Amino acid sequence: MSENVSEIYGSLVFNEHVMAERLPSVTYKALMRTIQGGEPLDIEVANVVAHSMKEWAIEKGATHYTHWFQPLTGITSEKHDSFLDPIADGRALMRFSGKELIKSEPDASSFPNGGLRATFEARGYTAWDPTSFAFIKDEVLCIPTAFCSYTGEALDEKTPLLRSCLVIEQQVNRVLALFGEVEQRIDVTVGCEQEYFLISEESYRQRLDLMLTNRTLFGYAPCKGQELEEHYFGAIRPTVNEFMKELDDELWKLGIPAKTKHNEVAPAQHELAPIFEQANRAIDHNLLTMEKMRMLASHHGLVCLQHEKPFKGINGSGKHDNWSLSANGKNLLEPGDNPIENLRFLVLLTCIIEAVDEYQELLRMSVASAGNDHRLGAQEAPPAIVSIYLGEELSAIVDALVNDHESEYASAHKVAMDLGVSTLPAFLKDNTDRNRTSPFAFTGNKFEFRMPGSSCNPSEANTILNTAVAKGLKSFADAMQGLEGEPFEREAIAWIKKTLRDHERIIFDGNGYSAEWEAEAARRGLANKRTTADALPCLLDRKNIDLFEEFGVLNENEIRSRYEVKLEKYNKLINIEARVMKRMVRLLYLPAIASYAAEVAENLWKVKAVLPESDLTPQETILRKLTEGVKAINGLLVELDETHHEVRAIPDQQECANQNANRVVPIMEKLRAEVDNLEIVVSAKHWPVPSYNEILFYD
Ligand code: ADP
Ligand code: MG
Repeated sequence: MSENVSEIYGSLVFNEHVMAERLPSVTYKALMRTIQGGEPLDIEVANVVAHSMKEWAIEKGATHYTHWFQPLTGITSEKHDSFLDPIADGRALMRFSGKELIKSEPDASSFPNGGLRATFEARGYTAWDPTSFAFIKDEVLCIPTAFCSYTGEALDEKTPLLRSCLVIEQQVNRVLALFGEVEQRIDVTVGCEQEYFLISEESYRQRLDLMLTNRTLFGYAPCKGQELEEHYFGAIRPTVNEFMKELDDELWKLGIPAKTKHNEVAPAQHELAPIFEQANRAIDHNLLTMEKMRMLASHHGLVCLQHEKPFKGINGSGKHDNWSLSANGKNLLEPGDNPIENLRFLVLLTCIIEAVDEYQELLRMSVASAGNDHRLGAQEAPPAIVSIYLGEELSAIVDALVNDHESEYASAHKVAMDLGVSTLPAFLKDNTDRNRTSPFAFTGNKFEFRMPGSSCNPSEANTILNTAVAKGLKSFADAMQGLEGEPFEREAIAWIKKTLRDHERIIFDGNGYSAEWEAEAARRGLANKRTTADALPCLLDRKNIDLFEEFGVLNENEIRSRYEVKLEKYNKLINIEARVMKRMVRLLYLPAIASYAAEVAENLWKVKAVLPESDLTPQETILRKLTEGVKAINGLLVELDETHHEVRAIPDQQECANQNANRVVPIMEKLRAEVDNLEIVVSAKHWPVPSYNEILFYD
């Protein structure tokens, strides 16, 4: 299919090109004023758009439409309604009105809302987001929407994201105005690199843990891991290649700019990176990509795992969130070589450093999940400590500014630098080394937030980043109010220096995986929230609520509801994992071990009967290992059972989460270790599930 990529690209999207072609020019212009200029949408315009959208969708084979939205748990939701409208004479018309396009009322009572809606008025509304294009998926016209309660409170991930994009746009424009620039269209740009595993459907079906929890709760390390580093960027096996080709085609049809695909570090692990887009679309596209990956894998006898840590001891999967700002399409984080633009760059950089330091706990919280708890700090992903990597050159500049050593910096680096007359150094593009251990790294002309896990909806991390940076920009713009020319430059540099001094603790260019960094970070007073239970409560900190409320991104009610939903989700997941674990131990592992032990005993007895004088110590040792293992497993099973029931009954969700993290999860780890130890004692014939060797090395 690849020869006609430009023909299929976007063919299932009601994009600007289709709109320009199909809509009357007044309607098109009015809609563009909404999409690009943020003007409210008129119902007359909506009616015309709806009609045209429906005609287009029917031509493409669609029979239904849906308001596609992002509830607080899970990834996306949809409910399909047909266009069908029967008429009196027995025929049916296909109808779709502006009202249906703009608003819908799903029976939303069973979506998580963290107490925002009492069940007796469980009404939720979805509202059209015209800034993300409608598209067709499996004969359904999908309309990206925001989801809110009867009282207008956000019940989804998209609403606060859209609010945060507006907020940062306003503040960036205020800062640009100080540099004498006219108001421009400011976009947050995002590119999400998506990691995932592909395994065969056959092994998946034999593992209850994978089917119900998306990760293996048991499994001894494979004989071969990733030590040969042959998988990373290695040749892609044919089955996987077929999958990737189909995926690319499907994504391209949806106008998703899938760009790079390659094998990842771990066996059976892969990555897809798109070309970055405006944040709202990039995130819709990431969610669609994840869905397509899961759906299409089955066409190839494969299952796509998007869990952060499907296999113990094997690298987990993340979702690197590349983030930048652009003004009329021009990247604002391009260090550039024009001196006056460098001052602007340094202001933006300083605001970002301030934001990440001030709101480090919120950023950590935004990536917290039961799955990501296994990944962060496991020597394969950044630790649970937020820090910024700037690279050698930028770090040296920050250092010089903080210590008033600009002139020395200049001579050391042979770069003219005289801040007083605004000739800042010219930066080289791609001046940053690759530091893969940093959670938040400057990579040439953008930041890469590496903490998000593969399964998360990246909306929240970006919402927080946008809002926190808006706060930094606002404090700069407020401080510079009314200044221009030389006084502005002087004050701006003084502000940069002071702010950097206040926040330089967040900058760390060393090895983020090392134990020394953990100690050093503690000394610097940086937060280190190891588990989801530890990371969530910061949502209720006054300072964080104030941030969201100051910019109207979330109100206190909305924040509290999010906190509740997250806690509940965490507790429910641990509960499911504990139950699956117990079930597997009781019904699979213990019977298998017992039957193998019986076989060993019987053989021992038989051999003894024939050769009473033979040395049977090896067989006896195996039998002892088996019986001792069974004893340990039984003991831990009882302990898990009791603790799990006790913790599950705790009514306070935070307390329940704390106990899950500190009591239930550690017992699960111990139980797993005991079972795994026997995986290399019991004969393969008796072992009830496929091993890591079999799951990870298929063809
Ligand atoms: P690497 O992570 O190896 O540096 P790339 O430089 O190709 O890889 O970029 C990774 C991701 O960052 C891609 O999805 C890319 O589109 C995205 N990206 C590049 N520039 C920007 C930008 N200005 N804003 C947001 N994302 C960007
Ligand atoms: Mg990357």
